[in-house]
Amino acid sequence: MDIRFVILFIMMIVLIGWVIFCGVQFVRSGRQIIVDANLKTRVKCEKCQMEYEVSKEELSRSGMSKSQSVTKTELHHGILVRRRRYLYYAKKFRCPHCGKRRYAQILNLEELQAMTSPAALRTGLRWLVIMCIGGFIILILFGIPMNLAERRHENRVEEMRQQRVEELLEEFNK
Ligand SMILES: [Zn+2]
Repeated sequence: MDIRFVILFIMMIVLIGWVIFCGVQFVRSGRQIIVDANLKTRVKCEKCQMEYEVSKEELSRSGMSKSQSVTKTELHHGILVRRRRYLYYAKKFRCPHCGKRRYAQILNLEELQAMTSPAALRTGLRWLVIMCIGGFIILILFGIPMNLAERRHENRVEEMRQQRVEELLEEFNK
């Protein structure tokens, strides 16, 4: 097997791993922002219409959710950003009235979005930059052995060509 394919294969795995790592960090920091934003969330049970409050931890915990949103492209500090705006967001919480996990609509969605979006945007951009820089570093690091392998391969081809010329010369001199 050509060493260059091995290098390329390992590089792909490292790159994919890196992108996944950054993605996980991004999602995690996004969740952290919701936890950090110091406000109570009012929700309304879709089954019994009862209104109750949920903790920040409960809100940021992953689970079944359904939503309706629109994406709008806005100019933000000189860069175009696609911003998702939720019109409706419901998540399964334990309803104190029903005593079961039911879908509850988040009522203070506007407030929540206004508070979290600039911070989320900054963190998102930060992880995007880290991802790009890391990606370049990986490419450069793997470029060194790749270049060496390439040169070795070229040398081998050159050697083979030389050998063939010599063989032909020998044949000719006979
Ligand atoms: Zn209920």
